[in-house]
Amino acid sequence: MSKKTTFLAVVATLTLAVLVYHTSLLRSEILSLREETNGHAEDIYFLMKSDSARLYTIMDTEVRILHYAKPHKHDMWACPECAEQKEREKLDEKIQNKSGHNHGVTGVEKTGNN
Ligand SMILES: [Zn+2]
Repeated sequence: MSKKTTFLAVVATLTLAVLVYHTSLLRSEILSLREETNGHAEDIYFLMKSDSARLYTIMDTEVRILHYAKPHKHDMWACPECAEQKEREKLDEKIQNKSGHNHGVTGVEKTGNN
């Protein structure tokens, strides 16, 4: 065996030994974390839930700010502000159709239902 081949074999063996050592370290770390979290599942779930709620609020606020800071010309998909405006428009149309009056700029107009 040449010196180069011997050197490569030693390096490969050392690399393998280091990998095995790190794997065993990770394994023991995971086991100790498991022991620490044992019995605290409710607390962990609560923290994850509140963190998700906080992220949701941040994202929602950010999108709503963008709706007004950088207005889009058409209704944007996944924009909560656009969706709410559309819902309000539908509700307004429903109310106008029910009352039989058209509340325009000029005031109340009769539409013939009364
Ligand atoms: Zn929008």
